[in-house]
Amino acid sequence: MPKDKTDQGIQIFLRVRPSKKPSGFLNYDNSDDRGLAFHVPKSEDLYVNNTRTDYKFKFNGILKEQCGQEEVFDKVGSQAVQNALDGFNSTIFAYGQTGSGKTFTITGGSERYVDRGIIPRAISMLFSEFAKNTETQYSCFISYLEIYNDKGYDLLDSDHESTARLEDLKKVMMLEDEDGNYHLKNLSMHPVSSEEDALNCLFLGDTNRAISETDMNQASSRSHCIFTVSIEGRKQGSDTVTRSKLHLVDLAGSERVHKTSTTGQTLREAKHINSSLFYLEMVIVALHEKGNNARSHIPYRNSMMTSVLRDSLGGNCKTVMVATISPESSHTDESISTCNFAQRVALIKNVAQKNEDLDPALMITRLKAELATLREEIKYLKGEAGEGYDLTDDQRAELEKLCRVYVDERNPMATLNIGTMTLVKIKDVHAIFKNLVLEARENGGGSSSDVDADKQVALLKNSLQQRDNEIAILVNMVKQGKKMPGTPATGEAKMIRGDSSRPAEVKEVSKVIPATNNRERVMQQLSEKTVGGVGLCKSQSTLDDPAQSFTWFKERYPGNAAIEENKALLKSKYAEAKETGEKVNKARSNINYLKTTIEQLRRERAMERVVEGEESKHEGKEDDGEVDPEEARHRKGIEMSKFIYKENFNKLKELKHAIEHIQRLLEKSRTKLQSDFDQWYKHNIDFLNRYGSLRNTESAGQENSKPVVYEAQAQAKSPLPRFPPQAQVPKEPLGAKLTGNKEADEDIMAFYKAKEELLKRNAQAK
Ligand code: ADP
Ligand code: MG
Repeated sequence: MPKDKTDQGIQIFLRVRPSKKPSGFLNYDNSDDRGLAFHVPKSEDLYVNNTRTDYKFKFNGILKEQCGQEEVFDKVGSQAVQNALDGFNSTIFAYGQTGSGKTFTITGGSERYVDRGIIPRAISMLFSEFAKNTETQYSCFISYLEIYNDKGYDLLDSDHESTARLEDLKKVMMLEDEDGNYHLKNLSMHPVSSEEDALNCLFLGDTNRAISETDMNQASSRSHCIFTVSIEGRKQGSDTVTRSKLHLVDLAGSERVHKTSTTGQTLREAKHINSSLFYLEMVIVALHEKGNNARSHIPYRNSMMTSVLRDSLGGNCKTVMVATISPESSHTDESISTCNFAQRVALIKNVAQKNEDLDPALMITRLKAELATLREEIKYLKGEAGEGYDLTDDQRAELEKLCRVYVDERNPMATLNIGTMTLVKIKDVHAIFKNLVLEARENGGGSSSDVDADKQVALLKNSLQQRDNEIAILVNMVKQGKKMPGTPATGEAKMIRGDSSRPAEVKEVSKVIPATNNRERVMQQLSEKTVGGVGLCKSQSTLDDPAQSFTWFKERYPGNAAIEENKALLKSKYAEAKETGEKVNKARSNINYLKTTIEQLRRERAMERVVEGEESKHEGKEDDGEVDPEEARHRKGIEMSKFIYKENFNKLKELKHAIEHIQRLLEKSRTKLQSDFDQWYKHNIDFLNRYGSLRNTESAGQENSKPVVYEAQAQAKSPLPRFPPQAQVPKEPLGAKLTGNKEADEDIMAFYKAKEELLKRNAQAK
């Protein structure tokens, strides 16, 4: 069978992240949304380290500042998912300097639901396509690899929980077999059967990444992450199985890589920056030269990242690159480098082919069945079986069952195996088929005989039972949700964009301070530090009470806006789920009601028949087979309710996915809030321990308005109580430590719960 092949270059898209202060050097070619020109005024050439002032680039598409995540998925992600479903390997990789939006594009913002990136959306699309495509049976596996310093780590390795340091984790190794195929040793593949399972893998991996990041000092900018979905599809009635991989790749920050290659620095120097991106450049250059027949060796093996992505670069894969840039003038140099790199990548040709194999197991089953039939045929032809004896009723019923199974089987290659073939049996089979055809004709393709109606009722009952169970689960979820605090913030929620998966940065406010002496200057600087975006609290009484401190912190915490927004969204989704659930229930009871009515009608009709002695007195009305118009109306009613039921049930299922996703985001933000608060509180305490407690204590809220005067350490109050660390968190409500404000208290409790749950889930994942 000739394999489907497509020969195409790597598609390149440019994404420009929004900025408050764009340089104004970027000019889009609006005629086709594919061209971009940089015009850097001469006076500004400090931003670009050469003498040109104009640069022009062409892309397959430009995703401008205002382009949202949904549009990005439509333009870049959905085609890649479709390719993977069709059996082609497919890769999307994001390339650009740190902070330009690679993680935002691939994984998404970690706070707001609308900011979901390509991975969660791809997962969603995959599972809804699996469900739609009932002809094919899919299996799906997930792995999540991080490459840091040219070493691979399994982000889904359960040892992440117990091992604090990255170096102590098992390394993922690249092995090559005799046929030159690569295998990754120690990289786990997790079978997933639902969207939730797959999302759990993503969240678990991201959490592990965030944890190891703290250990590595801002490593997210230096590590590559490869999220891989492996898909296997078996079409009914076919012996073939398609296998494909979807790689979603968040590369390390590309800053300064170009400078090393353009100024010809040595490899060793480049290594300190990011050797694997340097090797990526080399691979791209080599591929380009290969395209011009100038060379044949491609140095994939120089780094783990290029080895893992070998197929995505110049191999059997449909690949898309998203180049991300920041439009500020200070980033112009990097942005131009990124665009230059993308232009080179666009020249690479990949030859993707459908990965289709014969599945031996499927073939053996089919051939065995065929063989059995052929054996019987031979026996028959040789006259060994003779004419045969008449079948008993049981045997005939058994034969009819076999025939029905054969007719109902959707696999076009299915065979009918009736055991020993005899003339009598063959005649019987003919009779059975004739009956089946007549039956079908009578029903006009549908099924209106009583037998079939009963069958349908039984089926419906069955599926209702199943739906009942599912609804019970959903209703439970809604109930649970009600218990969560969900009051939306009054007034307009302020959107704060920040990557909450990273630990809080301690920001120095760079202000020149007229220092009187060193100690005072250090003190002044420390007092102006912010942790997680929140400055020092100067109210002693607030700090004395951890619960109050938490409320104080939360009110000023920038990430809180997103938490509130998600809470509001969750609330509206719950409301929607409740409404939809009610519709489902109504449709269901309607079906039940109509069903009972039909049964009642039938009983009445049967009674009538008995009374009238099988003789119909009504003119033009016969019993045999004709459906009572009233019953027909009710059946139509059932059909309609079934439709409404199905629609709303599907909607309810979608809502369930959304709700679970938002709940996870909330959990994550709350955990982040906790760790930021812990750090902030520690900073406050450290500060006070070093520089004494505060005079002017009760000026909370206006602390930046005037310089604060600090008491000497000798006069410091007794040491402040420490906020109960996680291990001491009481299982009961905090009691005296709660604030008294209902909403705040609920938040405090919910957030401990979230943290506990996250830890539990991670422990379970082991
Ligand atoms: P990178 O992974 O390239 O280092 P990030 O994806 O972490 O960069 O982006 C840096 C910050 O900018 C994050 O806080 C992110 O939420 C924000 N950001 C990036 N791109 C966008 C965008 N298109 N829209 C809104 N915010 C964005
Ligand atoms: Mg990133």
